[in-house]
Amino acid sequence: MKKIVFATHNRHKLDEVRIILKDYADVIGLTEIGLDEEIEENAETLEENALIKAKYVFEKYHLDCIADDTGLEVDALSGRPGVHSARYAGEPSDSERNVEKLLSEMNGVANRDAQFRTIIVYLENGTPKYFNGIVKGTISTTRIGNNGFGYDPIFIPAGYSESFAEMSSELKNKISHRALAINKLTEYIESKSK
Ligand code: IMP
Repeated sequence: MKKIVFATHNRHKLDEVRIILKDYADVIGLTEIGLDEEIEENAETLEENALIKAKYVFEKYHLDCIADDTGLEVDALSGRPGVHSARYAGEPSDSERNVEKLLSEMNGVANRDAQFRTIIVYLENGTPKYFNGIVKGTISTTRIGNNGFGYDPIFIPAGYSESFAEMSSELKNKISHRALAINKLTEYIESKSK
């Protein structure tokens, strides 16, 4: 079976993609190929950051590779924190402080529209193909819910009254930005294996 590296150290993300693609590819993570260091993501777009990670793996191991990057884009903040979502409140990356900073910046702001956007790049024989997933929603005025991670407690997806952090992981993983991008990638890999 075709081997694809997913350029992540995040076990949860790896398992999610591995299960979805199990009939088409053997998906392995960075730890399994012996790459322990963090690949620096210092670009100004999600696409570039994803490509940096995938290229790093391809150049070192000559294996096909998937990499992702996600940002929370808030309309009233001209798309911030966007590509800087992980380190919005500075180094080291800290979700609590990121949420705190965003809530204080949004204090008293009426337009609370925002979107999560994930970019997945699939670098196949060195050629990149991009897939995106977007979930529109609003930023709540306080933290709500205890599930999930990152900005989940303050993001209410459109069409729902609960935050991502109030949802079961089953529901969130069905409707999330990452799930939408992964579904597009899966369709592509499926169609190529026919
Ligand atoms: P990454 O590209 O997956 O590392 O995500 C960048 C940052 O966006 C993370 O540090 C998280 O804080 C945030 N983030 C990514 N995906 C989600 C999500 O599904 N819910 C909440 N926050 C997320």
